[in-house]
Amino acid sequence: MRAELLKKELGIFVFQDLLELFPYRHLDRTKINLIREIGPATEYIQVTGRITSVNTLGDKRTRRLVAEIRDNSGVLELVWFQGINGVQKLIQVGGEFLVFGRVSFFQGSPQITHPEIEVLQGQAADRPEYLEPVYPTTEKLKVRGLGGRQLGKLSLVLLNMLKEKDLPENLPESVLSYTDPETGEVKRWLPRYEAYRQIHFPTQPALYQEAVRRLKFEELFLAQLRLGLIKSRRHRSSKGVVFGQVGEMFNGFYTHHLPFELTGAQKRVLKEIRRDTGSGRQMNRLLQGDVGSGKTIVALLAMLLAIDNGYQACLMAPTEILSRQHYEGISALLKDLPLKVRLLTGSSKSKSRKEVLEMAREGRLHILIGTHAVLEEAVQFQRLGLAIVDEQHRFGVAQRAKLWSKAEVPPHVLVMTATPIPRTLAMTAYGDLDYSVMDELPPGRQPISTVHRFEDRRPQVMDFIRHEVGKGRQAYIIFPLIEESEKLDYEDLMRGYENIKAWFPEPKYWVSMVHGRQTNEIRDTNMQRFLAKDTQIMVATTVIEVGVNVPNATVMVIESAEKFGLSQLHQLRGRVGRGAEKSFCILLTSPRLGKEARERMTILTETNNGFKIAEKDLEIRGPGDIEGTRQSGLLNFKLANIVQDRVWLELARDKATSLLDEDPDLMGEENRVLKVFLQSQHGKTAWSKIS
Ligand code: ADP
Ligand code: MG
Repeated sequence: MRAELLKKELGIFVFQDLLELFPYRHLDRTKINLIREIGPATEYIQVTGRITSVNTLGDKRTRRLVAEIRDNSGVLELVWFQGINGVQKLIQVGGEFLVFGRVSFFQGSPQITHPEIEVLQGQAADRPEYLEPVYPTTEKLKVRGLGGRQLGKLSLVLLNMLKEKDLPENLPESVLSYTDPETGEVKRWLPRYEAYRQIHFPTQPALYQEAVRRLKFEELFLAQLRLGLIKSRRHRSSKGVVFGQVGEMFNGFYTHHLPFELTGAQKRVLKEIRRDTGSGRQMNRLLQGDVGSGKTIVALLAMLLAIDNGYQACLMAPTEILSRQHYEGISALLKDLPLKVRLLTGSSKSKSRKEVLEMAREGRLHILIGTHAVLEEAVQFQRLGLAIVDEQHRFGVAQRAKLWSKAEVPPHVLVMTATPIPRTLAMTAYGDLDYSVMDELPPGRQPISTVHRFEDRRPQVMDFIRHEVGKGRQAYIIFPLIEESEKLDYEDLMRGYENIKAWFPEPKYWVSMVHGRQTNEIRDTNMQRFLAKDTQIMVATTVIEVGVNVPNATVMVIESAEKFGLSQLHQLRGRVGRGAEKSFCILLTSPRLGKEARERMTILTETNNGFKIAEKDLEIRGPGDIEGTRQSGLLNFKLANIVQDRVWLELARDKATSLLDEDPDLMGEENRVLKVFLQSQHGKTAWSKIS
């Protein structure tokens, strides 16, 4: 019965699970305290003393047993509401006892409710030599007698059964010894068996700390090693189509149609792409570039490279608006080249859809641009050579994989993300991808001025918009419709829209609006009106968050900015500052701001650098909330935390990299322990496919 409950409540199926259910705290029962030592901060206490009184008080509901225990330093009250008869049999006035429990204060005096109590025989009570673990548990389990401490009894039984050979070392010598990144000392990790004993039943607090570090490191190291193995296997055995030459399309476009000089970062990334795609292996590259760093043109040039080598290319974007925008922008850039570019989205009419599918299948289509629709089974290419995923954080890993199945030899894959991911996160979440960074904006961009204003300054903000619009510019006003389905938010948005229209009356001004509840047609029309400058003001929800490019828009007002996360605010802000004119972002918030929200506003007003913002975001919110990493599963460590344990992550990565450099197949005798361990971990590694 208990086993059933354990499975259901905590997912404990086998010994290993219990072993890896780590205590969240320990109680120190190795010491005897003096009653005098109890202070307001005391949590648990263990004392010995003589019982000086025992009384039952109250009746029925309030019936309780109250006893006093006294040592040389003071007196402590013990209270029982349940099991009174049993306790009465155990304790008598004058007897000596060992008492343990959580201290509370009642009318200023310390007491323990339902203490653990045992008779002190002579003086040697049976005390453990270790700190006693307390495990996470659930209410249901508690009721069935499997509270946080009872679980400890189970794990003690388990650990006493396990011998060193049951938990053998899994780290090779080269990994076991390490240089402490903080002190520079050469150290050695606690052996694995010892670490498990100490993390559950530490004999000293310092050893507990060491055990935690060792197991955290092991977790991080194994994760890095697995990713490294996937990556190196792909590098060595994956066949990729070869883009051997730069041809007419690429060169023609580059020399005659490229509207600007590429930035250094763009050139560098193109070189990396050329190297990857020319190598005969499949490219799997993550391109991180801050908003506005010019990823689209890199994507376009890469696609021309594919076409020059006789292949087709496809570009996927997460929304209808974005894919349409890519389609229009790219079609315009390529208008003088003899290339067929088509758009495929969920709302493509069946006639054009049929035509696009046919062109793709017969190889007459050069570039297909679209939404998730391009992933559908029906979409087949004759020779797909390159698949590009734009604004990656809305695409899951599984969706990426679907792309590969669209050709016999998997196409090269370039994943572009506009949400910079901190290095540590990228290392863990995307460690199997190669990784390029565009950390340079095209020249001539003026930094966006960002200010934070309380809502009572709205009139001034509206005046400012009027002023900018008077100069021929456009403005966005964003409302926090976090969940497009939330009725309340939606009403707020409508009220906001009416308000804005009152500030900016027709016919002098025109306001358009886009949000997730509109049909695609209406949303597109409204977007187009803004793009065509028919409207000066765009009221929108976060549907415009990524990618939308209206260079003439210079003002971004974000209503209730405190409701957004840092990265999202940065993304939204990135909709302005895309042209040559000076741009502004105004964060409107309520005057009652929490500390964290205030911090977010300050960071945004201080920096425009997406990479810095991403680091801060990770610090404030933790890895679980960073866009795009949620489903990855790779970040679900049992012990390690990639923000707090950053130094160990770096060390783990270095160790994994150098180990695989030396012994990519783990064939060496010295790495046998590791290989054996990985093979024993079912399902967690692609090992079986490797060996
Ligand atoms: P993002 O990286 O956010 O997708 P885009 O590719 O949309 O950025 O580019 C943003 C703007 O910068 C576009 O208007 C684009 O034409 C322009 N741009 C891109 N590269 C350069 C460059 N090297 N020099 C000048 N402008 C550029
Ligand atoms: Mg983009």
